[in-house]
Amino acid sequence: MKLVRLIANLGYGSRKQVAAMFREGRITDSAGEVLYADDRVDHADVRVDGAPLDPPAGLVLMLHKPVGYTCSTRDPGRIVSDLLPLRFRLRSPTLSTVGRLDRDTTGLLLMTDDGALLHRIISPKSKLAKVYEVRLARDLRGDEGAAFASGTLMLESETTPLAPAALETLDSRHARLTLTEGRYHQVRRMFAAVGNHVEALHRSCIGGLGLGGLAEGQWRQLDVGDLARLF
Ligand code: URA
Repeated sequence: MKLVRLIANLGYGSRKQVAAMFREGRITDSAGEVLYADDRVDHADVRVDGAPLDPPAGLVLMLHKPVGYTCSTRDPGRIVSDLLPLRFRLRSPTLSTVGRLDRDTTGLLLMTDDGALLHRIISPKSKLAKVYEVRLARDLRGDEGAAFASGTLMLESETTPLAPAALETLDSRHARLTLTEGRYHQVRRMFAAVGNHVEALHRSCIGGLGLGGLAEGQWRQLDVGDLARLF
């Protein structure tokens, strides 16, 4: 495939815009040699403004989600993809969020175009741990950990009990909760079921992967090392 088409398909711009990027000398090979729109060069050898080209498929990003952004693409307000460069919104295949975080939840959100990976992460069968840091409106009573670990807790309007979850008390109003499934508003509903209220919620880890030093509102592409840490 000609480079101009390849790069436009990845969302870097329309073919006309990408052709202009070639004329401006922004597209080079890994040695810094300027490339031309009609060149046919191995994907791995192409640089845009000095950075490697996004992969054509199998792109996985982590985003440090701030409060106030939703994971829904239909929301008229601010959505998480607003925090990404335009090319990630224009590329095909499109990126989806791996599960969802509520508008008021902060923390680690993965996005990918890899349907199999997405399924593997969110499937309860994979039992992948998701770790949440919780600030509560009321003091913990002390019996919540046993209720969450029991595997018998039922959430309102559900027909199957929750899988056992691990609660670590950090202080009277702060806790760390580790889940292996992802039901709708699960953390907030679990604390409501034991008579408390979640005031602030932050997801710190998925599997062995944390945010590291990634600042709120920032994103980065995952590499093979990150993916190995996930499972
Ligand atoms: N559980 C919740 O209640 N909200 C989230 O955003 C994530 C898990």
